Amino acid sequence: MWVEPPRFDRPEVEVRSSSRRKKTGAAHWSGSRIVVQIPARLRGREREAFVDDLVERLLTQRPQNVAGDASLEERAHVLADLYNDGVMANSVRWVNNQRARWASCSPASRDIRVSSRLRQCPEWVIDAVLVHELAHLQEADHSARFYEIAHRHPRQNECELFLDGYALGLGLRIEEGDVDDTPGGA
Ligand SMILES: [Zn+2]
Repeated sequence: MWVEPPRFDRPEVEVRSSSRRKKTGAAHWSGSRIVVQIPARLRGREREAFVDDLVERLLTQRPQNVAGDASLEERAHVLADLYNDGVMANSVRWVNNQRARWASCSPASRDIRVSSRLRQCPEWVIDAVLVHELAHLQEADHSARFYEIAHRHPRQNECELFLDGYALGLGLRIEEGDVDDTPGGA
């Protein structure tokens, strides 16, 4: 048994290897820690990938609002009309591989990606994050004009506070910064 320290994208993970397990693993929550059981025969990269997969599945399965991609995109359209001068994203999708950020926007492809960790958050938090990302389609940088647009959503500040607390609650280690800043980035 060993314990992996929390990372940005996941809480502390306790790994138990069992010689009785041949092919399948299991994962459950124990407080703020995730406990995974894996076949003892696994080694190295294979073992790492096995653990990652179990953790990921548990994290994305937590009781949550089950908004799919279609409703996320629909929501983004509504919010864009309300707060972002009707700006259009090319696509808006949930992703499981957002490692160091809550969300991202590529101004070039106009694709917005939102970490599935946020599926469990209240709708107003998801809304504020979407408005932030939509604002990047209007203003790529975190400029004064950018914040003027992003903060048209009345709970933008509260959203940032919420996400800091949410990360702490999940035992995630996060860097100071914006919802879509990479750790150590500008
Ligand atoms: Zn941003």
